[in-house]
Amino acid sequence: MSTDNLCPKCGAPLSPVTTTSTGREIQRCSAGSWDPQSRKNIGCDYVKWLEVKPVTLDEKCPKCGAPLVLQVTRFGKKMKKCSTSSWDKVKKQATGCDYVEWINNYSPKQDTGEEFLPPEEDQG
Ligand SMILES: [Zn+2]
Ligand SMILES: [Zn+2]
Repeated sequence: MSTDNLCPKCGAPLSPVTTTSTGREIQRCSAGSWDPQSRKNIGCDYVKWLEVKPVTLDEKCPKCGAPLVLQVTRFGKKMKKCSTSSWDKVKKQATGCDYVEWINNYSPKQDTGEEFLPPEEDQG
């Protein structure tokens, strides 16, 4: 049995996927809801961030010539990075080519606490 769609905090089913203002897809716990009046989360505050698949670009890495990929970070920031780079989970360090290019409208002001933002639309 898959537990992919169950909240790891409370075991309730997760709500359908919603898209944040920055284009990230998230799933909230169905046992939690956003109260627009008090501007607080009620109930379970678990949020699952869905993986954004990198898009391979028709551009070459200036460092090594491998194709670049477009990635969107957890906070909706876009960057181009080298397709040969990856993350070594054991050593906790980046491997491969380290070329990264942030895409223009990167604004650090917007990247605080997006996971606590209210959902875009009313839930009920
Ligand atoms: Zn939950
Ligand atoms: Zn490279």
